[in-house]
Amino acid sequence: MPKLSQEQQEKLREIVGKDQLLLAASELEPYGSDYTEDLFFPPDAVIRPATTEEVSAIVRVCNTDNIPLTVRGAGTGLSGACLPVEGGVVMLTERMNRILDVDTKNFQATVECGLINQSLNDHLLDYGLFYPPDPASKGSCFIGGNIAHNSGGPRALKYGVTRDNVLNLEVVLPNGEVIWTGANTLKNSTGYNLTQLLIGSEGTLAVVTKAVLKLLPIPGKRLLFLAGFSDFTNACRAVNAVFLAGLQPSALELMESQGVRISADALQLNFPFKEGCEAYLLIELDGQESELIWRDAETLQNTLEELGVDELLIADEAQRQSEWWRIRSAIGETVKAKSVYKEEDTVVPRHYLPELLSGVKEIGERYGFETVCYGHAGDGNLHVNILKGQMTDEQWNGPDLEEGIREIFRLCKSLGGTISGEHGIGWVQKKYMNEVMGKAHFELMKGIKLAFDPKGILNPSKIF
Ligand SMILES: Cc1cc2nc3c(=O)[nH]c(=O)nc-3n(C[C@H](O)[C@H](O)[C@H](O)COP(=O)(O)OP(=O)(O)OC[C@H]3O[C@@H](n4cnc5c(N)ncnc54)[C@H](O)[C@@H]3O)c2cc1C
Repeated sequence: MPKLSQEQQEKLREIVGKDQLLLAASELEPYGSDYTEDLFFPPDAVIRPATTEEVSAIVRVCNTDNIPLTVRGAGTGLSGACLPVEGGVVMLTERMNRILDVDTKNFQATVECGLINQSLNDHLLDYGLFYPPDPASKGSCFIGGNIAHNSGGPRALKYGVTRDNVLNLEVVLPNGEVIWTGANTLKNSTGYNLTQLLIGSEGTLAVVTKAVLKLLPIPGKRLLFLAGFSDFTNACRAVNAVFLAGLQPSALELMESQGVRISADALQLNFPFKEGCEAYLLIELDGQESELIWRDAETLQNTLEELGVDELLIADEAQRQSEWWRIRSAIGETVKAKSVYKEEDTVVPRHYLPELLSGVKEIGERYGFETVCYGHAGDGNLHVNILKGQMTDEQWNGPDLEEGIREIFRLCKSLGGTISGEHGIGWVQKKYMNEVMGKAHFELMKGIKLAFDPKGILNPSKIF
C-alpha cells in the first residue's frame, strides 16, 4: 500500500485539525506494536477523532479511497488485532473517553469507546454500582477494545464476559453510516442481533463509538482464598470440584508457581509461598450477605481439604486481597519482561482442565519449549505462555514450534474446546483457525464481512 497522497492527507486533516493527524515516522512508530509478542507493523498515518461525526467522515474518506483503516484502543491486545498489517491509517479512540450517562433507575451507563475500563468503575463507586467485565488489563484497556474482543477477566465466571454486559452499540459502518444496533432493553427479539454480532468482531465490521452497558450493585462482601497444591493436576481437579459442591465463586484463577514467583518478585510483594507447591488457586466468593458467604466458605474449605490441598489461606481484608490480585494480574506482563512469549488462549469445558494442562506440558517436552500457565480456570480458560528463552529467531518462527502449537489446539478441540477464550484471533492466531472451523463456517463468516465491508477496508487481513 502506498503512503497517503497529499490530497488524502489534506482531506483527513480537514476533519480533525492538523494536530490530530500524525505522519512523521517517529510519531507512527509506537502504533506499530501492541502487547502481542514482538510484532511491528507501522501505519502510514495515525488519526485521533473526538466525535462520532469525525469517525464517520474519516471512514468515508478511507472507504472512497480504498485506504486500510484499523481502529486502535489502548493497544493491550494479545493477538495483534489492532496492528495495521496492510499499512494505511490507524484510528486512535483515546479522545472519545466520556461517560455520557449513568442511569441509576435502570442500572445502565452510556459511554464512549475510548473510556478506560477501570475509569468507569472508579466513577461508578459513588453510585454503589459496577460494570462487571474486568480484564487483568483493566487499568489501561478501553471499553471499545473490550467489546471488539469480547473480553473476559476473572469475574466473568459469575458475571459473564463483555457480550453478557452490553445492551446496545452506536457504530459507524464502513460506508460512514451511523446506526444503533439494538435497544437499551434487557430483552430484544427484534430482527438479527447485530449487537452480539459486532461484539467480538475485532474491528473488522464496524467502528464502535458508543456503548450502553449493564451495571450491577457492588457486592457488600468479598472473601479471597489462596489454595496451594503440590501437584499441578490436582489443582486443576479441584477447580471442577468447587462447582460440583454447589458453589458459584465470583472468580477462580489458576497460577503456576513459577509465574507467581516472577510476578511477586517484580512487584516486590510478599506472597505466602509454601515449599513444594506447584500451583495455586485464587478463589473469590462475593455477595451481599456476610453470613451466606461464610457458610459457602466452610463448604469450600471442606471440598479443598478432601482434595488434598497443601495450603489454604483466607484474606478477609481488602489490602491482602488486593496484593494477591495484583500478583495474579501482573503474571503476563512480568513473565514477558523476562522473555518474549507467544500466549495461547486455550479454553475447554472446565472438567477437562487436567487433561489440557498435562497435554500442554507433554507437548512442550516433545517439541522442546517451556511454558508458564495460568488463567481463568473456572471458565476452563488457560493462558499458555510459550517462552522464547534461548530459542533462535529461526526456531521461534519455525515450523516445529507452529506444529507444537497446532497440537495444543487439536487437543483443545478434541476436548470440546477452542483456540481462543477471550484474546481473539487477530493476526497471530488466524493460521490456526482451520483447526476448529470448516469451509462452510468460513464462507458464512466471509459473507458477513462482505455484507458489512464490501471493499475490505476495515482491519484487513485479520481473523481470516
Ligand atoms: C497484562 C494484560 C492482561 C490482560 N488480561 C486480560 C483478561 O484478563 N481478559 C481478557 O479478555 N483480555 C485480557 N488482556 C487482553 C486485552 O487487554 C483485551 O483484549 C482488551 O480488551 C483490549 O483492549 P484495547 O483497548 O487495548 O484494544 P486494542 O488492543 O487496541 O484493540 C483490540 C481490537 O479491538 C479493536 N478495536 C478497538 N477499539 C475499537 C472500536 N472502538 N471499534 C471497533 N474495534 C475496536 C481493534 O481494531 C482490535 O481489533 C490482557 C492484556 C494484557 C496486556
